[in-house]
Amino acid sequence: MCRHLAYVGPPVTLARLLTEPQHSLDEQSWRPAGQRHGTVNADGFGVGWYPDERDTSGGDSGFPHPARYRRAVPIWADANLPELTGNIRSHAVLAAVRSATEGTTHDETAAAPFRDGRWLFSHNGAVPDWTRLPTGLTSAELLALDAHSDSALLWAMIVRRLRQGEPPAGALAAVVRQVAAARPTARLNFLLTDGRTIAATAWGDTLWYRTGPATALVASEPDDTPGDWREVPDRSLLLATTAGVRILPLHTPRPHHKESQPMTDGDLTLADQLPADYFTLRLPADARDGLGPQASPRCS
Ligand code: GLN
Repeated sequence: MCRHLAYVGPPVTLARLLTEPQHSLDEQSWRPAGQRHGTVNADGFGVGWYPDERDTSGGDSGFPHPARYRRAVPIWADANLPELTGNIRSHAVLAAVRSATEGTTHDETAAAPFRDGRWLFSHNGAVPDWTRLPTGLTSAELLALDAHSDSALLWAMIVRRLRQGEPPAGALAAVVRQVAAARPTARLNFLLTDGRTIAATAWGDTLWYRTGPATALVASEPDDTPGDWREVPDRSLLLATTAGVRILPLHTPRPHHKESQPMTDGDLTLADQLPADYFTLRLPADARDGLGPQASPRCS
């Protein structure tokens, strides 16, 4: 399993998130504390960050596109990284250290973050027998996969939904349910951001978050910076902006093996520009509608 994090808040150096804290992501690559599977995360790493909001050149719908730096080496083995992380500042970052799942490629194209337009994505987990997973993707979509890995396949499934205009939380929830129905032992901890909102799932491994003044940090495990880290219950969907965090339960779908089973849970709505009452009023209603009759929101 990997370790990953996503941050939105005041601009900080990448070093502040990746290397400076005690038990930073860098340390988690060689000494993870809460990892449930695997021992070290030495099969590559990656970091994506968003330029200043005022620089929208090359972005879509007013969202600047993120930049990425990915390597196939362990994060501690990149001698150039300290210079980059010490000088690049951003208000929104997604980073991961990788422990490759058996049968996946090891070059940097398989290291998160994966990217599509304004979106950055990471997957912590594994899907058994993923090369035969029923996905509904076309041959063209399969041939366009970033890498030969379960994470790249899952990302293609999510991208398809995002490109169709599905909101990020709904897209993650729908893909978790689709994959879990076909592969009940799959581990599906997702992180997705557009630089303003973070959507994440806890499904088989650890997930934590910490909020501060206009800040949200979501991570596989806490670093040691002072603050109130909280653990996200397994089988949850998390939504975070600088305004706050909301956690909703995801329910285990009934197993099936048919590709054609209709999906009914992809309509959870999350606006790009969240209205003021979003976390208090609208999201719980959206979630109840989108995630099925048993869903009841948990506040945080
Ligand atoms: N299965 C993914 C990969 O191989 C994620 C691995 C992980 O979480 N360790 O990259």
